[in-house]
Amino acid sequence: MSNEPDGANEPPRKKLAGDVGVVVEHYNSRPDVGVVQRLESPILGLKNFNNWVKSVLITRFAHPVLSKGSTSNGYSGPGRGRGGGAGKVLDMGCGKGGDMTKWAKARVREVFAVDIAAISVDQARSRWESMRGPRFDASFAALDCYTEPLSKAFPPAKLAQPFDVVSMQFCMHYAFETVQKARCMLENVSRYLRTGGVFIGTIPNAEQLLEHLDEIPPNAEELSFGNSVYKIRFEERNERPVFGHKYWFYLQDAVENVPEYIVRWDNFVQMAAEYKLYPIYKEEFHQVFEEHQEHPEFGPLMVRMKVVDANGESAMDEDQWEAANIYIAFAFEKR
Ligand code: SAM
Repeated sequence: MSNEPDGANEPPRKKLAGDVGVVVEHYNSRPDVGVVQRLESPILGLKNFNNWVKSVLITRFAHPVLSKGSTSNGYSGPGRGRGGGAGKVLDMGCGKGGDMTKWAKARVREVFAVDIAAISVDQARSRWESMRGPRFDASFAALDCYTEPLSKAFPPAKLAQPFDVVSMQFCMHYAFETVQKARCMLENVSRYLRTGGVFIGTIPNAEQLLEHLDEIPPNAEELSFGNSVYKIRFEERNERPVFGHKYWFYLQDAVENVPEYIVRWDNFVQMAAEYKLYPIYKEEFHQVFEEHQEHPEFGPLMVRMKVVDANGESAMDEDQWEAANIYIAFAFEKR
């Protein structure tokens, strides 16, 4: 176990230029609010729902009990029924450690948590340190995972045993600024992932974003759409590069106009195959809800996580529900 800084060459906390600098500054400067303040968020229902989706992904694809071939949770679709287990996890773009409890519940043995935002990494470490009950081992490091190899953050001995799961939640799309960044990200995902291991994540749904862009009337002042909860603004209507197709994202009480990039699914799948990663699951968030709401484990979990109340009433208003479906969840297997 280690809670000391990993990697002798931890990058200095200097200000970065360009879009990545805006992203880092944004996430570093967002306060890590306590439980009480978190409960006061105007989009609490949506935040709970996003956490529930991540829990579903983690439980289905990264749960050691399920991995042993058990179908005891009653799930009949694709999942980790084919051997292996989530002993060792890489949480890339871990942020403030929002998934630490999920990893504990999945009973993983060890988590490596990395993020470009050094202050967020410190907060993730504190969150892990303050966790009650039996804790997994954890290592933390600040790293630009889209320009630097993972080996820069962790010494070789720590990476000698491969990961069973790599998780990238709400962060992979920042890599699609350039082909080089996307490739560096995929190299970091795949290099230390064992064969049969799983890569899970959540990203904005490019298809839907581009459909909305197409629907904007030609005389509109701004290339934007959204509702009271979120806003997406493109800079260009016609130029749609495969990498670096930028838009600005605002999400109430979460993201303040940060530059993000379209991830074209087909292009992503094609590239991932070069890193021996093959898709086994992809659904829009609304579909994840439809698929799992009646599930014997994930249905009650939705009540416990306050996505719905005991009567099945949603904690999200219509705008939050619409914003929820900006995203898709995915899982790839390394072969
Ligand atoms: N995964 C966490 C979660 O689900 O709560 C955090 C998600 S937050 C929306 C996006 C995260 O991606 C931020 O913490 C940000 O610093 C991180 N990120 C962006 N670019 C990155 C990069 N180049 N390398 C590592 N992390 C990056």
